Amino acid sequence: MAPNPMKFVDGVARVKAERPALEFGTGVFEYAPAPEATDHVRLEPRYGLFVDGGFVAPKSERWFDTVNPATEEKLAEVADAGEADVDAAVKAARAAFRTWSKLAGAERGKYVYRIARLIQEKARELAIVETMDGGKPIKEARDVDVPLAAAHFFYHAGWADKLPWAFPGRSVAPLGVCGQIIPWNFPLLMAAWKLAPALAAGNTVVLKPAETTPLTAMKLAEILREAELPPGVVNIVTGAGETGAHLVNHPGVAKIAFTGSTEVGKLIQRALAGTEKRLTLELGGKAANIVFADAALDQAVEGIVNGIYFNQGHVCCAGSRLLVEESIEEDLLARLDWRIRQLRVGDPLDKNTDVGAINSRAQLEKIRELTRCGVEEGAHLHQPECALPARGFFFPPTYFTHVAQSHRIAREEIFGPVLAVMSFRTPDEAVEKANNLAYGLSAGVWTDKGAKIFAMTKRLRAGVVWANTFNKFDPTSPFGGYKESGFGREGGVHGLEAYVEVS
Ligand code: NAP
Ligand code: MG
Repeated sequence: MAPNPMKFVDGVARVKAERPALEFGTGVFEYAPAPEATDHVRLEPRYGLFVDGGFVAPKSERWFDTVNPATEEKLAEVADAGEADVDAAVKAARAAFRTWSKLAGAERGKYVYRIARLIQEKARELAIVETMDGGKPIKEARDVDVPLAAAHFFYHAGWADKLPWAFPGRSVAPLGVCGQIIPWNFPLLMAAWKLAPALAAGNTVVLKPAETTPLTAMKLAEILREAELPPGVVNIVTGAGETGAHLVNHPGVAKIAFTGSTEVGKLIQRALAGTEKRLTLELGGKAANIVFADAALDQAVEGIVNGIYFNQGHVCCAGSRLLVEESIEEDLLARLDWRIRQLRVGDPLDKNTDVGAINSRAQLEKIRELTRCGVEEGAHLHQPECALPARGFFFPPTYFTHVAQSHRIAREEIFGPVLAVMSFRTPDEAVEKANNLAYGLSAGVWTDKGAKIFAMTKRLRAGVVWANTFNKFDPTSPFGGYKESGFGREGGVHGLEAYVEVS
């Protein structure tokens, strides 16, 4: 049956009639600008590599700029680590492993607690630097990224002296030097996810932050020094993909933990095949957020908005495919359309901003290209009218209706604020459509019926399934994928297991 374009318009009209108290259109609430002050933020003009407890100039003699994606202004220069630099970092980590791995768990735990507390102490500055370097709204950096980063260190500090209880009846040993490579969407938080379990278990680390967001890792290096973490236990090598590849291929590394795209994950898996190195991969996703007719619709709308517009949609577990039960499609879409028009897009440092800047020009181009492709393939584009800042990389919150499962926007990870809406008639059809991709990182289910939640979650091939909520994270809870979303878990005892040899 051909889609009825009037259906959506009628739905909007009906919800408007049902909710006369809501002023449809723009500007229900007017907000005065509320910019976060940046004058107390200390940034060095140039950051070296953090190797063996100090900042050193790169042997490569290369440096690169990191910019603020909201203004395109340069924030600082960062070292570009070459092969010899990665080698020096791995050597420092190997030397430190000899003593760090022998330290009593309770002593290691004290360092990890200290890092957690220092993150809390410097939370405001860390949040602002995260927002300046990566473009995410300050309210998210402040209320999500930084507190969760501290929580990961607190949680794992608690495990440091309890490893025998985590794996009862088995003997537990650290692995050695862990090479950890992280992406740009949650820079400090991803560093915390990786470092905290590795350190608690007695490993040493070489961490490679993403090229566009190295600054909170540099701030974290300062924190590690302040915590008096022994030199060489954590080394941080900034650079681009090539630096990551040097780390992957270094023979002195016992384990690689990678979070990033499925494409690079596959390259790494190939590079490690036949070696003794351990590997965990946290890769991409294209989550289905499934809304049944019996769901609380206004709550579901909040979950849909959080699912795809949180962090500009730069979220591996983003609810980027909305599957809505056909009987409520127009009602839900009308509510969603209204809600999206209330989102404030713009200056990430403004405390009222809901959708900040796209992380880089390259990512903006990718989002634009896939959006163009959505239109060309015949889906209907919906974007609120919102003025975007003249400078910087911005993209409005967007959704597509009349999406077919074969469309690229329904299959590929856009990693931006773009939602593909599809419908279903039966739970079987919802499961079929949700599982119909190579990804399997996360999913959402919205229904009033508990039994339906359990029936669905059992059948969804996704590492994390949220019910009547979305994007909830906790260090005690394992996170990770199925299929091409990777393997291995982060968080909880499962995450700890990836950093120990259990025999
Ligand atoms: P990416 O291009 O794969 O990069 C991830 C990291 O790997 C960056 O530090 C990158 O350096 C580095 N890298 C690039 N090429 C490499 C190579 N050949 N060898 C070793 N390292 C290499 O991914 P991204 O675009 O930064 O991040 C977005 C992706 O991460 C999305 O697909 C998202 O779903 C995924 N992600 C997954 C999770 C999860 O937990 N499953 C969490 C967050 C993000 P440069 O930055 O310098 O290129
Ligand atoms: Mg940057």
